[in-house]
Amino acid sequence: MLKETVFAFLDLETTGGNSSTDRITEVGVRLWREGEVLEEWQRLVNPDTRIPAFIQSFTGITDAMVADAPRFEAIADELQALLKGCVLVAHNARFDYAFLKAEYRRLGQSFALPVLCTVKLSRKLYPEHDRHNMDTLIARHSLPQVKRHRAIGDVEAMQAFFEHVLVAKGEPVVVSAIKDLLLHPAVPSHLPPDILAYVPRGPGVYRFYGEDDVLLYVGKSTHMRERVASHFSGDHNSRRGVQLSQRMRRVEWTETAGDLSAMLLELKEIKTLSPLYNRRSRAAKRLLSIELRPNEDGFLQARLVREIDPQRLGDYYGLFRSKKDAEVALRGVAAKNELCGRLLGLEPPGQGPCFQRTLGRCKGACEGLEDVLRYNLRAQIGFHGLHLKTWPWPGPVGVVEQDPESGRTDILVIYNWMHIDTVHSEAELTDLSLKNRSVTFDMDSYKLVVKALLGRGGTRHRVIELPALGAPEILVPAGTE
Ligand SMILES: [Zn+2]
Repeated sequence: MLKETVFAFLDLETTGGNSSTDRITEVGVRLWREGEVLEEWQRLVNPDTRIPAFIQSFTGITDAMVADAPRFEAIADELQALLKGCVLVAHNARFDYAFLKAEYRRLGQSFALPVLCTVKLSRKLYPEHDRHNMDTLIARHSLPQVKRHRAIGDVEAMQAFFEHVLVAKGEPVVVSAIKDLLLHPAVPSHLPPDILAYVPRGPGVYRFYGEDDVLLYVGKSTHMRERVASHFSGDHNSRRGVQLSQRMRRVEWTETAGDLSAMLLELKEIKTLSPLYNRRSRAAKRLLSIELRPNEDGFLQARLVREIDPQRLGDYYGLFRSKKDAEVALRGVAAKNELCGRLLGLEPPGQGPCFQRTLGRCKGACEGLEDVLRYNLRAQIGFHGLHLKTWPWPGPVGVVEQDPESGRTDILVIYNWMHIDTVHSEAELTDLSLKNRSVTFDMDSYKLVVKALLGRGGTRHRVIELPALGAPEILVPAGTE
């Protein structure tokens, strides 16, 4: 293998860490085969943007130095030709590869090469060590000192490391490690390269952990292995995606019998464990809804409610995360149905025509020009689409989910749209009591379970009625602004 392969040791300097917004400022490459440097190539690149001061002082590459350098566009073809047929070698290769892909993408070109990461190579050959950054490798293996943080300096260090391990570990060991790494190109450098082989293919919830077992991310999928692999691939190169990959130290998963179980488990873990990289974990729990109640003249008046009683869902219209969201919905209903702005609470109380009336957008309930019954009927029709679903069963139910592939069964115990527990057989249901349990009503699980059980075409799940289990205590999240 070593005889036939040209390794292109490559390093980039950039204006920052995000390949979709930051740009390349320097490229250094050495083509190497069997201990011999075939060619050395380095270029400064005009990034078409300012280099942040801290990066200028870190790399020594200043705005002035790149002002007259060619843009990437001008060196793109030469670099493609240089690297053609090579194995690209880089330290934390995911970073360099993502930047090259992004630069070529901007030019409407594709860029693809087999990639070998020397962080992963070091990790594989020296699993007893935790740190594999370049400074550590230089110190650990007494490699010659180079000009760090300039492209060709880092390339020299990489080459020295490569040549060192060939001697220290012997060619067969290194070649077998390289082959292995080239087979699993997309796995983040701190995870075992064969991790994907262990992740189940079926439905479930997966978790990524970082250093000190910090929970970074919880996700779900009906095809876990495929989804986990998509997190690893360099294709989603957002700053968060790259950061998440670099911080991953461990992957864990829970198999489920299907999509609904996976979604409910994911939701529960995001809410209770607040993983660092799940955006939803930041969303507040507080909920608002709209209630329609007759005023002293009998007209239905809309009122925002902050304390939702899950036993009276049929009295509410819509679930909202903020007062603003609720008002947007109210304005929508008002405009579509020519309802009174004052009765909807969109205008301050007062006498005479509401503001909407003066614009000709209210049929005049505020001025006594519209009949109470007629107005109320129009209001109910207008709000109909927002009506919350009342729980249609006399008590808790077991929703059966089965995976024909794995033979796994999950019975989700659900009451008032809230997931209370999961068991795996009907026998387990008889031992269950919900009497001393408490659950919290929340919008996400409401929407999810309503969709699964009442969604288009009806439920695909078998539902077992379980009134004998008793009802759990329902906690209502406190409504604060
Ligand atoms: Zn009005």
